[in-house]
Amino acid sequence: MSLFNAVEMAPRDPILGLTEQYNADTNPKKVNLGVGVYYDDNGKLPLLECVQKAEEKMMAAHAARGYLPIDGIAAYDAAVKSLVFGAESEPVKSGRVATVQCIGGTGGLKVGADFLKKLNPAAKVLISDPSWENHRGIFTNAGFTVETYPYYDAEKRGIHFDGMLTALDRAPAGTVVVLHACCHNPTGYDLTEQQWDQVVAVVKARKLVAFLDMAYQGFGQGIAEDGMAVRKFMASGEDFFVSTSFSKSLSLYGERVGALSVLCQDKEEATRVLSQLKIVIRTNYSNPPTHGGQIAATILNTPELRALWEQELGAMRVRIKEMRGAIVEKLKAAGVKRDFSFITQQVGMFSYSGLTKDQMVRLRDEFGVYGIDSGRICVAALNSKNIDYVAASIAKVVQ
Ligand code: PMP
Repeated sequence: MSLFNAVEMAPRDPILGLTEQYNADTNPKKVNLGVGVYYDDNGKLPLLECVQKAEEKMMAAHAARGYLPIDGIAAYDAAVKSLVFGAESEPVKSGRVATVQCIGGTGGLKVGADFLKKLNPAAKVLISDPSWENHRGIFTNAGFTVETYPYYDAEKRGIHFDGMLTALDRAPAGTVVVLHACCHNPTGYDLTEQQWDQVVAVVKARKLVAFLDMAYQGFGQGIAEDGMAVRKFMASGEDFFVSTSFSKSLSLYGERVGALSVLCQDKEEATRVLSQLKIVIRTNYSNPPTHGGQIAATILNTPELRALWEQELGAMRVRIKEMRGAIVEKLKAAGVKRDFSFITQQVGMFSYSGLTKDQMVRLRDEFGVYGIDSGRICVAALNSKNIDYVAASIAKVVQ
C-alpha cells in the first residue's frame, strides 16, 4: 500500500484553470479577461523602463549573491516604509514601524498571519465578502478560523457598507480584519474617505486588528492618494499591519517582491516585533531572494528612476481608466440598454461586471471571452484591439 493512497486530488485553482482553458481555445479572437495582470495596449506584459534601467545598473555592479539578512535588503525595507507611511511621517521618523522584505504580497500576508497566530491563537479573521480568494487560504493555513464581513451589494452595485460596519461592530476584540487598502479585488469598489473614517473608528472602538492588504498602490487614484487608508489608521494611534506588493506596480510578478510592515507603539516595541517576524521568516524560507528586492530598492532610492516609475505607473493607471470609459461607451453604441456606467466608478484592475454566471459561460463558450464566473473581468487586459470584440460579445449575451 502506497504512502499516498489516501491523498485526494485537490481542486484546481479556478483562475489558473481558466487560463489553461483559454490557452487551449483555437478561436483567433479569444480574449483572456480572467487574469489579475496588467497588459499594455498590445496585449503584452510590460517590462517597465525603470526596471530595465535598474537592472542595467545592477548588472554593471556585478554584485555577488550572498545570503540577504532574514528581513531582506535594508535599503528596500526603508524604501517600503517611506512609500507606505510617508518618509516624513512620525512613525517612520521615530522608528516604530517594523518592515520585512517578503516573497510577494502573498508572502507579506503569510508572515503576518503566522506572527498573529502566535500572538493571539484564539483570534478569528474576517475577510471581505467577496475577497481575493487566497486571503481565506492563507489565514486558514495559518490556523485561523476565517469568516467574512459583507462588502459587495449586488443589487445596489456598490458597497454594502451598513452590513460591513455592523459585522465589524459585532466582532470580538482581537479579531483580525483584512481590508483592501485600495483597488478592491475582485469588485473594484473602494470605500470613500468618510467610510474609511467610520471603519477606523469601529476598529479602534472594538479593539480589532487591522491588516491592510496593499497589492495595487498607484492603480487607484495615485501612489500618494492610494495611501489614504494607511494614513487614517496611522492617525488613529492603533497598531496595524500592512502587506505590500510590487508585482503589479513594478510589473515584477515573477520576481516575488513584497513586504510586511507592522506599526507599533514605539521603537522598542518595533524591535521586539521585528525579532519575531524574523523567526517566522527564518523557519519558513530562511531569507528572501536578492534580485527583485534589489530592483525595487534601486528604483525607489534613485530619484530619476523613481520619477520614471511614477510616470510609467501613472500611464498604466490612465490606460485602465480609459478602458473603463471605452467599454461603457462601446456597450452603449452596440445598443445595450442596461446602464454599465458603474464600471467607471470602480477602480483598479478589476470590474465586477454584473454579468451572471450563465452570461460568463456563454461569453467563454460562444465568443472565447474568458472572465470569472462571478462576473469579474480584468479591465487591465482590455486594449484598443480587443475592446470592440469584447463589447460586441457582451452585447450579444445581455440582449
Ligand atoms: N492581495 C491581493 C488583493 C491580490 O490581488 C494579490 C495578487 N493577485 C495579492 C495580494 C498577492 O500579490 P503577490 O502576487 O505579490 O503575492
